[in-house]
Parts: sequence; C-alpha cells; structure tokens
Amino acid sequence: MLYLDNSATTPVHPEVKEAMLPYLLEQFGNPSSKYYDYATTAKDAVANARQAVANLLHCKTDEVIFTSGSTESNNFIIKGITDQRKDLGKHIITTATEHPSVLETCKYLQTIGFELTILPVNINGRVSVEQVRAAIRPDTILLTIQWGNNELGTLNPIAEIAELCEEQNVFLHSDATQVIGKIEFSLEDMPGLQAISISAHKYFGPKGVGVAYLKQDAYNLYPDITPLFHGGGQEYGLRSGTLAVHNIVGMGVASKIAATKLKHNIEQLTLLEKRLVELLQQQFGSNIKFNQPSTNKIPGIVSVQFIGLNNEILVKKLAPIIAVSTGSACSSAKPSHVLAAIGLSLNEVRQTIRFSLSPYIELEELNIFKEL
Ligand code: PMP
Repeated sequence: MLYLDNSATTPVHPEVKEAMLPYLLEQFGNPSSKYYDYATTAKDAVANARQAVANLLHCKTDEVIFTSGSTESNNFIIKGITDQRKDLGKHIITTATEHPSVLETCKYLQTIGFELTILPVNINGRVSVEQVRAAIRPDTILLTIQWGNNELGTLNPIAEIAELCEEQNVFLHSDATQVIGKIEFSLEDMPGLQAISISAHKYFGPKGVGVAYLKQDAYNLYPDITPLFHGGGQEYGLRSGTLAVHNIVGMGVASKIAATKLKHNIEQLTLLEKRLVELLQQQFGSNIKFNQPSTNKIPGIVSVQFIGLNNEILVKKLAPIIAVSTGSACSSAKPSHVLAAIGLSLNEVRQTIRFSLSPYIELEELNIFKEL
C-alpha cells in the first residue's frame, strides 16, 4: 500500500517515537513542578524542544508557544489578537482558500461584530500583494493569510505581504501548517510577519501538538493577547494547561530532522512530483487535468481531475493499493471550497483527487501507477 495522503498527516518518524517513549514511561514528570528530578528532566526536555522548533523557524525560543496543533493556534491567534485590538478597529482580512480553522474562526468573529473581507484568489489559488494592499483599511486589525495551500500546494507571496504589513503597521498572521519542512524560510528575515501556526503531525511528528509563533517585539504584544485557555499560566500565560511533554519532545525531534534534511527533502519531493505527473500523463493522457499551479508551490502536492469519474468512487477503488484523498481530510464531507475558489465547477470538484507525497518515498514506488 502506497500512502499518498501526506498533507492529511504523516507517520511519526522512528527517531521521534524513540525520543517520545521515555516521556510516557519513566520520565513522566510535570514540567511545572519543582525541585525533583522528574520535573526538571521534563522541563529541560521542553526547553530543548522549544529550541529545536526555534531553530527550524529561525526565531527566538520565547516566540514559540506550544499548543495542541494548528487548529488551536489559528483560533488562539485570530481570536486573541482581534480581542486585544478590538478598540482599534473591527476589520479582518483573510482569503477564500483558508483552512476551516481560519475561515470558520473569522466567520464566527463576524457574528460578534467584526467585519470580514474574504479575498478571492486567482486561477492558481493565489492572492496578490496588490489585492491585499487594496483591502487594508484604517480600521484593519488583522490579516490572516495562508502561506501554502493544503489542496493545491499554492504558495502565497507571504514575504511581500509581510513587507506591506510592516509598512502599513497591520498585524499579519499566516497559517504555515503545510509549508513546514517543504520550503526554506527564516522568520528573522520577515519582521512584518507576526504570527504563524504549525502542527507537528504534518512533518513526521505526533498528532495533537503544534506551535503558535508570536513575534515578541511587535506591538508590545506579550503578554496582552487574550488567551484561549485561562488557567495555570503555562506558556507565558498564553496557553494554560499541563504541557504534553511526550508530544512536545516528539515535535522537537521532528523539527530537528526537518531542519537538517530540509534541502534534501525539498529536492526529493520535487523529483517525486515530477515523476508522478509524468506517470499520470502517460497513463491517463487527455483523461486528466491538473489543478495545481506549476510554479510557486509546495513540492509534493498534485491535484488531478479524472474527467468523467467520481472522486469518492475512485478513492475507494484505489484504497487497497494507494491511499489518497478527494481533498482536505478536514472537510472531505463537503465539496472543496478551495477548488470552487479557483473557479472549478461542482462537477470538476467531484472528479478531483489530491496526491500528497513524502520525501521518504522511493522513486520506484511510484511505478505502481503503471499498473492502474
Ligand atoms: N491548516 C492547514 C492548512 C491544514 O492543512 C490543517 C490540517 N489539515 C490545519 C490547519 C489544522 O491542523 P490540525 O488538524 O493539526 O489542527
């Protein structure tokens, strides 16, 4: 069975598992406890993991806030920032292709009095800096713009949008869940990007842990942002709750591996994507149509229309040999809003399958497509 749904989730890397196990068994301490070894070992492990995430993102350790994943990070940042800044304005800007954890959060805020602009995307699923510039108003308090799309792989021009936001003094958050370990960047080089959200399970870490990155020196943000969880004051008072040490340790090791292997993994994903596209073209010729952009994309995401076929039936048929999805796992019950946003008809959406590769796949494994 070939697993090609790596944008939905990835398996835990064997080194990640090995590193996590002691923290489930003998090193079970609460890092907020004091003095005895169980506590200090747990605390040191969390500090090491925080350092590893900071190294991967090229940011300060104090800017790394552990959460349960991107859904929580998106909710925390979007609700926290808008609540903190509500007296300055009521306007939020986002895009049509965001993950539901961003879109639904913004729509919720609309129900309690905020004003929302949802930017349309072009045929590649991308927003332009000009569109963003035109949408910013004097009362805009937050922009939340996805870095890379989970269904199409489209990359938004985040560096340029960050420059614009710095110039215009508006708060920019980006959902970076899909780009980690797949593109090179440094948050140090993007002073206009104040917050991002990431999830460990998208890059060979465990499920249920992620990070909200919050730039420390922007707008004197800390510690005034409204937390999602009030309580014991963990994570600088921004995310209360006993830390999931085993998961955090796992995220740290996954981050270390992702940073070390970044260049190699990007090359491998690019190579695999090229081969997959070739094989699909050979096998299906004019019976398929690609939806993903050809440039400025996350390597390894391929979105294909199988003309005249139903994607649900196809995914079921392929299931014994190839694991793929019709789009995002998070909203697979509904036709994709992302594909609709790039102008696909309902019919075209219903014939689309997403293949998402892993750098750990061997090129030869893709030969399975020759047998379809
Ligand atoms: N944002 C994007 C772009 C995603 O792909 C996902 C996961 N599919 C999330 C946010 C949510 O991540 P999680 O389910 O780990 O909270």
